Amino acid sequence: MAGILDLFRLDGKVAIVTGSNRGLGQAMAVALAQAGADIVGATQSAASPDTEAAIKAAGRRYVHVQADLSSLEPVPRIVDAAVRELGGVDILVNNAGIIRRCDAIDFSEADWDAVMDLNLKSLFFLSQAVARRFLEQGRGGKIVNIASLLSFQGGIRVPSYTAAKGGVKGLTMALANEWAKHGITVNGIAPGYMVTDNTAMLRADEKRSADILARIPAGRWGEPSDLAGAVVFLASAASGYMNGHTMAVDGGWLGR
Ligand code: NAD
Repeated sequence: MAGILDLFRLDGKVAIVTGSNRGLGQAMAVALAQAGADIVGATQSAASPDTEAAIKAAGRRYVHVQADLSSLEPVPRIVDAAVRELGGVDILVNNAGIIRRCDAIDFSEADWDAVMDLNLKSLFFLSQAVARRFLEQGRGGKIVNIASLLSFQGGIRVPSYTAAKGGVKGLTMALANEWAKHGITVNGIAPGYMVTDNTAMLRADEKRSADILARIPAGRWGEPSDLAGAVVFLASAASGYMNGHTMAVDGGWLGR
């Protein structure tokens, strides 16, 4: 019988991670590789040498797909690359996302559409494309959506982000309901306030930054590596009976 730690192993698995070039996506891609998975990274930019080096240091393969997910154009190319170069796909981490900050009263249609298109629309259609492949392969699969505290809260000056991340939490449940019977789990991670480019503007505002820090029970902002355990858990057999749930990794923020 497999021991408990073996349930977390991802040997022989292939994971697609969007936005793997930096920040949370990079840390999660490296964590999945360290757990045994080969990685397909999809980003709008050129491949990041850092991500590739860390994955290769873990002894795994890395395939980069240049993919601007502000449209659906790259969706089939990403799945094709996984199948062609690594033989299939077992795990999808929908991480790519942007944020636009402006008072709701002045918020533009362009800032609404940009965030919804990447953070919600592409997440849905990439999940659909990967789930179709899971069905063809007939061995189930794991989808991990990167949600936000703003899947649970309203936020300030980020209306399209809150709408999109609320949608991510809803879709996580909706897709789990439809696909659980095929051995597919769809779960989410809601990161707290993490030190990445996404929060650079917040951290540059001394007062907002201090207010946020004072409210985090852990007493520090999160680091990308703080998501490593959660993503490996949700991508592995260890979370086999968990479905449709979005869990916070937030230093205690939501419990406060
Ligand atoms: P980041 O800005 O460093 O990373 C964003 C990622 O999205 C990058 O890898 C980038 O390549 C990718 N991306 C952006 N536009 C893209 C496009 N058009 N096509 C393809 N990829 C694109 O910030 P991050 O914090 O690492 O963000 C990763 C995810 O985590 C996002 O979904 C974000 O909303 C979410 N998140 C972050 C925090 C935080 O505190 N940092 C909190 C909650 C949720």
